[in-house]
This record gives sequence, C-alpha cells and structure tokens, in this order.
Amino acid sequence: MTEVRIAEAAWLREPLLSKLLSALDRGGEEARVVGGAVRNALMGEQVGEIDVATTALPDEVVRRVQGAGFRAVPTGIEHGTVTVVAEGRSFEVTTLRKDVETFGRHAKVAFGRDWTVDAERRDFTMNALSMSPDGRVHDPIGGIDDLKARRVRFIGDASRRIAEDYLRILRFFRFHAAYGEGEPDADGLAACIAGRAGLDQLSRERIRMELLKLAVARHAVPAAAVMTEAGLLIRVLGGVPDLAGFSNMTKVEAEIGTAADPVRRLGALGARISEDAIRLWQRLRLSNAEHDRLAYMVKDWWRVSPGDDKAARALLYGLGPERFTDRVLLAWSRSAAGTGDAAWHELATLPQRWTAPVFPLKADDFMKRGVKKGPALGETLRAAEAQWIGADFPSDAAAIAAIADAAAVSNIGK
Ligand code: ATP
Ligand code: MG
Repeated sequence: MTEVRIAEAAWLREPLLSKLLSALDRGGEEARVVGGAVRNALMGEQVGEIDVATTALPDEVVRRVQGAGFRAVPTGIEHGTVTVVAEGRSFEVTTLRKDVETFGRHAKVAFGRDWTVDAERRDFTMNALSMSPDGRVHDPIGGIDDLKARRVRFIGDASRRIAEDYLRILRFFRFHAAYGEGEPDADGLAACIAGRAGLDQLSRERIRMELLKLAVARHAVPAAAVMTEAGLLIRVLGGVPDLAGFSNMTKVEAEIGTAADPVRRLGALGARISEDAIRLWQRLRLSNAEHDRLAYMVKDWWRVSPGDDKAARALLYGLGPERFTDRVLLAWSRSAAGTGDAAWHELATLPQRWTAPVFPLKADDFMKRGVKKGPALGETLRAAEAQWIGADFPSDAAAIAAIADAAAVSNIGK
C-alpha cells in the first residue's frame, strides 16, 4: 500500500500540538493523533477536537506535559485519559489500552503498548486510523479504503462489537449520516436491528450526545428514515418520529440561511405537544435550558401562520429571536406550504429585519399616576404592556402616556 501522509494540514503544524506530541513522542515512548482528527483530515473535513494516544502511562503523561508547560487535568485517569490544557486549548491524551476480558468498553482493560490492538478496540474502520507527529498515517484495519468509499464499517464482527457496547448502534448511524454515502453497510445495519433491545440499557447522557450529533449530520434525514424503519428511533425517542417534518426542517433552515441546530432538529423530529418535550427531557436527560427551548418551540405551534405582520411582531416580542425562530420553523416545516413559500419565508426572517423595542413604561410611571405598590402594580404593568403590544409598539410619547393613563385609571384603588 502506498504511504499516506497528512502534510499540509494547518492544525498539524499548530505549535501547541507539536509541542505536546514532541513531549510525548520521545525517550522510548510514542504518541500519535487518533480518531476523528485523522479521519476528518483525510476526508477534507474540518478538524475539531484533537485526541492523542500514547504508549506512555498516565503518570508519565502528566509528568511530561507539565514539564512542557501544560496543565494536566486527570479527567479520566482510571481509563488512562488526561486532559492537557494550555492557552485555552485542550487535548485528550489517552494511554493505549488492551482488553483483558472482552466486554468492550465495559471490559476490564489494561494499558498496552500495541497500536494495532488499540485500533482494534475502536468502533469503525475509519475511526481506527492514527497519525505520527511527522504526518504518517497508520491504518492497521483498512480504514482508508472504507473512508474513500465513504463506508462506515464495524471493526470485526458487527454483532459482537454491538453487544460489547450498544451505543455503537447509534454511532453507526451517526457516522454514516456524517461521513457515509448511499445505503448503510448491510451487515452493520442487520446487526443494529438484531441488537436493538440493548439500546434500553444505555445511559441517557450517552444517547443524548449521539442523537444531538446525529440530528445535525449532513445525511441526517435518510439516516433517521432507516432508523425509523428499523424500529430504532422510536425506541430511543419513546414516541413516533415525524420524518416529514424533520426533513422539511432541514430544508427551511437552509432556506432562511440559519445553521442546523441540534435541539431544534430534535424538536422537529420528536415533539408535537408539550408532553413530548417533557418525555425527551427525561429520556435523554436534556438540560433544563434544552427542555425550555423544546417547550417553547412546541407550544401551540399550530397557531402560527404567516400573513399577519402585527401578530408576527407580537410573537417575536414575546418569544425573543431564538424561540421565535424555533417555533416558526417548526410550524412552517409542518405546514402544507412548500419550503419555497414566500409568506412563510417572510415570517421566518422577521428577526433579520426587525428588533423588538423595549417596553418603555416602568413601575414608577404608574406609581406617579397613583397606583399602589403590590399586586395591582404588576397587573397594571401587564395590562399596559398588552395594550402597547396590541397598538403595535408605538414609540411616540403621547401614545405611551395615553396607554399609561388608561391602565392606571382602571387599577387605581385596587
Ligand atoms: P467527533 O469527535 O468528531 O464526533 P470522533 O471520531 O473523535 O468524532 P469520539 O466520540 O470523540 O468520536 O471518539 C473518539 C474515538 O474513540 C473514535 O474515533 C473511536 O475510535 C473511539 N470510540 C469512541 N467511542 C467508542 C465506542 N463506543 N466504541 C469504540 N470506539 C469508540
Ligand atoms: Mg472526538
């Protein structure tokens, strides 16, 4: 096989990475970049986080990187992982491992010195590549051919590898959606279907991470369709996925030029009513902020429609730009109108043209008019704000004073 090198990549020549690799790759120890960074570099995709593997034992890693001026955080030292930090950047450095008893990720593992053994413990052939500091790529499993063919393939026997860690079912679809082309690998797909009951054992956090990444992957729509047909998606979402709405969401996002957003995509796929948002929150252990977003997104989305500019401004004022965009895109993607519909487009892009003003009246304005502190004051403020929104956000002083007067009069003495 011809030697493959990653030479010109800017990230590889980054001084901080070079410093880290040269601290670890000397004195009888070896270090390489592994996993996603190598895969993405070879595919011409953007390189995100950089994972490093090394023969050096964790204590030695800590000693060496500290010596080179990095901070070492023992994030998963029992698994051999040290997070190495400097200048606001961080790298995960993991000591090579080998299985002592084979239950995959849950296996009893020991540190090892064999790069091929470490590669074979990984999930897919395209994730088993590693790269020496000089840019030389090592491919003990045949990952480069699969990567070129955009084929996501399990290392070894798919069913066995899935039984070791059922998260690999979701990872199979996530990587296929992000890097694959065409139909998913048939053996892998069959093994995922056969192993689907195992999804129920997974921790909710791990499912959440994979689903959110899957939701924004390039080919998320066909992947979600296959997962649905295979009975997998219903199992992790705990409800019936809305594939048409999900597909339309990807199109309307592109239509208005907004980036794919994992939480919004999850809402499009799995939430029709508030109860769905609550269920996803619990099943996937979403953060409270993520749940809030979903809750606002699905609330009465069916009442949103284009054509009423004043109502649109009131909605944007009430929700703020992010929640407005979530809800409008959801309503649009579930409407009978096509993704090319001009009126929906106009509504969905309102935040690009109009920023809601700040309500100009304060408690003081009403106390001056004789409203007493307490519940009546709050009620007056709310009534005046509703009037102001209903009048389409007037900004002239006379109109605002008239709204304040009217609201105060009806609440004085309460
Ligand atoms: P990205 O970070 O861009 O999503 P990645 O390939 O770096 O992609 P990670 O989840 O960060 O993915 O995992 C890093 C590497 O660790 C993978 O490339 C793979 O080699 C290995 N790996 C991660 N999770 C598993 C797993 N559940 N089973 C086997 N190998 C895994
Ligand atoms: Mg990674």
